[in-house]
Amino acid sequence: MPELPEVETVVRELREEICGDTITSVEIFRSNPIVQGDLDAFQEQLSGRKFLDVTRRAKYLIFHLEPKRYLVAHLRMTGKFIVSDPLPEPTKYNRIWFHLKSGRLMIFDDIRCFGTLEVYDDLDDSKSLLKLGIEPLSNAINPSFFSKRLASSKREIKSVLLDQKIVAGLGNIYVSEILFHARIHPQRSAGSIKKKEWSMLIKYTKFILKEAIKNNGTTISDFRRVDDKTGTFQQFLKVYDKKEKPCTECGVPIKRIVQQQRSTFFCPECQK
Ligand SMILES: [Zn+2]
Repeated sequence: MPELPEVETVVRELREEICGDTITSVEIFRSNPIVQGDLDAFQEQLSGRKFLDVTRRAKYLIFHLEPKRYLVAHLRMTGKFIVSDPLPEPTKYNRIWFHLKSGRLMIFDDIRCFGTLEVYDDLDDSKSLLKLGIEPLSNAINPSFFSKRLASSKREIKSVLLDQKIVAGLGNIYVSEILFHARIHPQRSAGSIKKKEWSMLIKYTKFILKEAIKNNGTTISDFRRVDDKTGTFQQFLKVYDKKEKPCTECGVPIKRIVQQQRSTFFCPECQK
């Protein structure tokens, strides 16, 4: 599943490709990425609008259109956007074609069909965006925010960091990596984390996300960029998917445990 750095990579590439271009028409091959409104309305709401910008909020892509309107997309497991020259017919997993004035296509492709697309005139109308917690790369994130809010929390730190209503955009791969760098055991309760440790968590959250963005994200299985290239951050991973491999810091084998039905990887020596 794409996480924040992968979505940021897609946003940057789409911004380069489509800003200034206009949607001339919308062709829908499979309707279930569209989560509100009927299909005719979806086509009508977008046709004739120009792309002004593409931005990101957590793992949502936000297309800013003119006259003012927003297309809000979430890639979920396997969704991707491809900008391509015209094709004779849709390939197997093409769900929507946005025909562009330049003659190209912006394609929404999704093997498993969990991705979503929604249209809004005002972003405050989007319930999914309103529910989101703090943006991990913003300046608003600081140790007191967490130490106050989570002072008596008995929840495991890993599940707190994955909770999109608290911090928006972190996923399974990066949370394992952040906890390793901050030397914190993934099963510790959030309430037991000291202010100094929150500082470390924030420091490494920013560091790892920025490094991952620099490397165009991590490609473990499905993630593809707009040009179908892969991200390269996987070569910098220290613990994720490294079960039984020696820790790069101390040589002790990396352990895998399951928390909330998802794998966590950590070093039992470095993260006591
Ligand atoms: Zn270690």
